Amino acid sequence: MDSKPHRSLNLFTPGPVNLSRAALEGLGAPTIHHRMEEFEALYGSFREDLRVAFRCSGEVAVLTTSGTGGMEAAVACLLRSGEKALIPVSGKFSERWANLCGIYGVRPVVVEIGAGLSPGPEEIETNLKTHDVSSVLLTHCETSTAALTDLKAIAEVVREASKRQGREITIIVDCISTFCVDELMMEAWDLDCCISCSQKGLLSPPGLAVVALNQKAMDLLKRNSPKAYYLNLANYVGGNYYPFTPAVNVIKAAYSSLHQILSVGLDNVWRHYKEVSGAISDLLISAGFRPVAKVHGNAVVAFWSASVDPIKLGTMLRQRHGIVIAQGQADLRGRIFRISPLGKNAGDLEALGIALAEILGAFGREIKANSLEHYKKVVGREKVRW
Ligand SMILES: *Cc1c(COP(=O)(O)O)cnc(C)c1O
Repeated sequence: MDSKPHRSLNLFTPGPVNLSRAALEGLGAPTIHHRMEEFEALYGSFREDLRVAFRCSGEVAVLTTSGTGGMEAAVACLLRSGEKALIPVSGKFSERWANLCGIYGVRPVVVEIGAGLSPGPEEIETNLKTHDVSSVLLTHCETSTAALTDLKAIAEVVREASKRQGREITIIVDCISTFCVDELMMEAWDLDCCISCSQKGLLSPPGLAVVALNQKAMDLLKRNSPKAYYLNLANYVGGNYYPFTPAVNVIKAAYSSLHQILSVGLDNVWRHYKEVSGAISDLLISAGFRPVAKVHGNAVVAFWSASVDPIKLGTMLRQRHGIVIAQGQADLRGRIFRISPLGKNAGDLEALGIALAEILGAFGREIKANSLEHYKKVVGREKVRW
């Protein structure tokens, strides 16, 4: 039998990703019943670890849905219809906040940000002066372009505006592709609600959304009448009783994987992904490609494909090397390509560099031998092993 069955296709996509070994082991463990004490203990420990990873002291709800279900739960439970929400939109994922608001009667105040750019604190500050919003809905990394948002700086201007105007403003953040990947300090940065899911930085199978709530978000949850049944966050916090049948095996997988991530140390994990995403980015820049994002997150890099057909590039990488990269979405399809280092070990990253050099060479985009050597040296010294 193949000793590494989960590596047969090398996914360099920003979710789903190849499972970590810890996740695979957890997934393979026998299913337990969710009314057994054993499950409640597992769920409690998982939520405790999630609190540590979000750097928050509040509550974390675990929902049986993909990441978008967590976003929807936050809109349905924390916002009230008729209220206004400020939403900087710079791509497919940040746009989702506005779509969700529309469905729940929240009035979106959309600030259009150019593709590849991130909202700046000044833009947020200006808009808070002219619009009486009760919330700001942010996207930590707009995965469709790789652009990273400076949450700390934005939260600061929101808190100042809130003080000046004497009204509460709730900060809700889609951290779906940055959780356990980029630096994220929920409590220190004063974020009220942060959302992620199982199939990105947690290196686990798809199936879970995780929603972290501080005390202010918990108070909103109590104040608001629920507009959702299955996605009512109040059902998932306050104890380890799970209201419905949870994805028990996925919780086991994500718990084992997060345990491994925390044992490596989040600071080390953030540094690791910064190094390796930077190395991939440098390699592509050396071949003459231009990055889409002004500042990229660690979960993905995105490049304008220019004269190279990105769909063909993806097909060749998959057929010849078993490597899967991500394409552009919506109007960016056929114009950009994206590569993610999530869950990759040194050997996978080296194989990526070699494959890119070979295939881009065939497209007339040469990666010079010294650039490839430098790349291999950087990814080869990485000690984190998933
Ligand atoms: C992946 C992703 C989503 C969507 O998550 P699903 O699990 O597919 O629902 C939302 N926002 C961002 C920033 C993402 O990267």
